[in-house]
Amino acid sequence: MQANQELVDLEHLRKIFSCAVDTKLQRIEADVVANLHEFLSKISVAADSRPQELEQYFQSYRIPDAPTQVSEQADFLQQQVVAHAVNISSPKFIGHMVSVLPSFVLPLAKIMTALNQNLVKTETSKSFTPLERQVVGMLHHLVYQRDESFYRQYLHSRQQAIGVFCSGGTIANITALWVARNKLLASRDGFAGVHVDGVTAALRHYGYRDLAMLVSQRGHYSLAKAADILGIGRKMLISVATDRHDSICSKDLRAKIKALRAQRVAIVALIGIAGTTETGGVDDLNAMAAIANDNGCHFHVDAAWGGAALFSVRHRQLLAGIAAADSVVIDAHKQLYTPIGAGVLLCKNPTSLDYICQQANYIIRTGSRDLGRHTLEGSRAGIALLVHSTLHILGQRSFELLINSTIATAKQFAELIIASQHFELITAPTLNILTYRYHPQPRYPLTLAAQRAINRLTTDMQRRQRSAGESFVSRTTLALQGHQEPVVVFRVVIANPLTTLSHLREVLDEQVEIAASLLADSGCDLYDYR
Ligand SMILES: *Cc1c(COP(=O)(O)O)cnc(C)c1O
Repeated sequence: MQANQELVDLEHLRKIFSCAVDTKLQRIEADVVANLHEFLSKISVAADSRPQELEQYFQSYRIPDAPTQVSEQADFLQQQVVAHAVNISSPKFIGHMVSVLPSFVLPLAKIMTALNQNLVKTETSKSFTPLERQVVGMLHHLVYQRDESFYRQYLHSRQQAIGVFCSGGTIANITALWVARNKLLASRDGFAGVHVDGVTAALRHYGYRDLAMLVSQRGHYSLAKAADILGIGRKMLISVATDRHDSICSKDLRAKIKALRAQRVAIVALIGIAGTTETGGVDDLNAMAAIANDNGCHFHVDAAWGGAALFSVRHRQLLAGIAAADSVVIDAHKQLYTPIGAGVLLCKNPTSLDYICQQANYIIRTGSRDLGRHTLEGSRAGIALLVHSTLHILGQRSFELLINSTIATAKQFAELIIASQHFELITAPTLNILTYRYHPQPRYPLTLAAQRAINRLTTDMQRRQRSAGESFVSRTTLALQGHQEPVVVFRVVIANPLTTLSHLREVLDEQVEIAASLLADSGCDLYDYR
């Protein structure tokens, strides 16, 4: 104890809190800012490789009793953490929905952290509150295109909100469906509402046997979390078939709704997807809006990925009908190139968010402008600052160029795959996501054993490429029409503006080599691999 007391000195601690102390950490940081690209290029894209080896650095479960020297911690971070992070900014990291950030984000993030505003209430976020509302308004306008008087009335309304900021698409989807559930089972005829009395009492009051939500089989798993949390149940998130273009099958949707209603199952929401996570497919939102309207149910659109296509005159038509949605989710930390932690829920009707309005006397007072009145989250960072700045610094036209160019690159990549004698395109890119597999001179029909062999090879190829650390594509398994077995595929997401066709050629070349070596090692033919 004696030694520790000597080490911990209140004056020194106060200094740490009150003024800049030159530390090794700051020197590393200065280096990062000065040579960002070089800093990142030293990291490999070897996602997930050697997890056991890394765990050895993180074994101790005791909080260090005495302070660690900053320089010692800096060394640790540099050698054990930074060096083994994944270089998601590499142009050959094309497997997930996260990519390089514009360089100006770094100083902005520092400003955000330095101010450490809490957007839950205006008392801790003064200027950040109207700034965040403005960003919500801009994205609302991108989707709904309402007129000047609408935004003049609602942008900074004390009573209502036309959207909310969240830490991501998951929370935004949950919030949207929370609104939908509370709206469906609202207070009526002496019943206080599902938010007060709960789901069981609400079903009894309304005379429903059960609740359901519907989404295509490509729905994001955050919707299952929402079904769980909202008391609907994962089983009652009903999966609808998709067509050849990976868009929801309207006929199946209508049939399933009819069957549910015949059993007195109330429909909380119909969920359309604009850019499915696995394949980038887009549902026919006009058709879904009409079906939702016919059945009087909430229409939610999960545009977490694809919402950015609205920036493009060329591609926004794909999302036609989105303005008819009661609610829409867009992730800023995907194609708006903001750091992780930014998603937005937008509501067509300014009264929608009233269904989840909160109040607490000490923090979010009725009639105040506190953003926390309508959010699922409590304390929230001022990440809207980054979205606001990115929207201004890049502007609509840059986003249009980015989305056009990543979609064009994905389409060129698809052509490369089609033209190659080694690969088979599985889902063509509607947006900038596609799937394919290694399958030289495809021979159909495939026996079940052959399909499974190709699935095994695809899995092994993806793992080997990932651990080699040069490039990264992800992998998923799709149930597809015309295939008796689910198909394992390579999944590519083109979001990095630095990714060119020659990078993509290199990714394919590497895969050809990996396949050859795996097949040689196993001594098997493609059709009976392993
Ligand atoms: C990414 C994504 C989500 C979830 O968003 P998070 O920001 O990861 O929480 C939801 N839906 C779709 C379609 C997505 O692509």
